[in-house]
Amino acid sequence: MSDVMPVNRAVFDEVMVPNYNPAAMIPVRGEGSRVWDQEGREYIDFAGGIAVSCLGHCHPAMVNALTEQANKLWHLSNVLTNEPALRLATKLTQATFADRVYYANSGAEANEAALKLARRWALDVHGEGKDQIIAFHKGFHGRTFFTVTVGGQPAYSDGFGPKPGGIEHVAFNDLASLEAVMSEKTCAVMIEPLQGEGGVVPGTKDFLAGVRALCDKHNALLIFDEVQTGFGRTGTLYAYEQTGITPDILTTAKALGGGFPIGAMLTTANIAAHLKAGTHGSTYGGNPLGCSVAEAVMDVVNTPEVLNGVKAREALFKAALEKINEKFHVFEEVRGQGLLLGAALAEPYKGKARDFLLAAADEGLMVLIAGADVVRFTPSLVIPEVDIAQGMARFEKAVERVVAAVASKD
Ligand SMILES: *Cc1c(COP(=O)(O)O)cnc(C)c1O
Repeated sequence: MSDVMPVNRAVFDEVMVPNYNPAAMIPVRGEGSRVWDQEGREYIDFAGGIAVSCLGHCHPAMVNALTEQANKLWHLSNVLTNEPALRLATKLTQATFADRVYYANSGAEANEAALKLARRWALDVHGEGKDQIIAFHKGFHGRTFFTVTVGGQPAYSDGFGPKPGGIEHVAFNDLASLEAVMSEKTCAVMIEPLQGEGGVVPGTKDFLAGVRALCDKHNALLIFDEVQTGFGRTGTLYAYEQTGITPDILTTAKALGGGFPIGAMLTTANIAAHLKAGTHGSTYGGNPLGCSVAEAVMDVVNTPEVLNGVKAREALFKAALEKINEKFHVFEEVRGQGLLLGAALAEPYKGKARDFLLAAADEGLMVLIAGADVVRFTPSLVIPEVDIAQGMARFEKAVERVVAAVASKD
């Protein structure tokens, strides 16, 4: 290995586009819910690569699937199909409302496909003029220009020139404001059943049922973006299963590949028929490597043991966070579902979520934030109890440090 070029964080600033600002430490190895950096320092992982590493790092089921496929066949393009893609699509359609699958490489691409399909469906079925896409303030749907414009954070879509048109935003969990802008011109409503990036905010059951009813009333498609909530994250394979309603299109990515880049759009046969041969595509979408890993992940995740285990771990996380809060009074609310949890900061800690993240990293714990006011937890769905306990002990120390730092400034 002596010929491997040594690199460190300073190299990032010399060779990388500055659109990210990664931490100073560079992880080199992971196993389960533990990660080690270049210096051999250990971290407990409550972030899971932003809700991706649903089976932790280097789970044997994933390693086996990937290495087995790596020795067989890597790539064909969509001029040909492949066995892992067909097996995974069969399992996804058997496990959900959907009859058809389109593969992408990321969440944004799955959403791009969903939005293009909705527009094409509306044009084919209802003719011109039915092109309004409605989405929600603080929603997040990816970073392609269409998806980022549908996302409800103008800061992410401003500054790139003219935006794709026909897109409107209304307040999340506010049915009246949705009703006010919907009409026969509405093509689709895109929504996260639980807003992730926007602050870990669950859509209420009544609101989601109301969204479904309005879509039915105005012949609009309901698109559930389950890129973050999907694949066991909330305790069912998909979050829609707990809402009492069914979307027309569902997008999934992140945990789908457990760390291998893959996304998918799921829909019914009737709607899928409008994405005819040649209308949309991707060179890598549905490639054998991604699909064999995702199939292996699904075989583990879509079992009562793992899904019930998510609920059990949710209870452990919530109890530990409440206990820390009893001592330090830093959270206004601990919310979320399954292992997509957010601790919303109370005064005087509002705006300081990043301070908690940095203090946690110093204590050997990786957490996430969701905006400036929420500390977010999206660990592995199979994180061992001992890692939860030790991680929470580290988090408590981090909280103590932030509290002391804020107090010393008063
Ligand atoms: C992360 C995320 C996306 C974007 O996924 P990428 O793989 O980063 O393109 C889209 N929607 C939601 C809800 C997400 O959380």
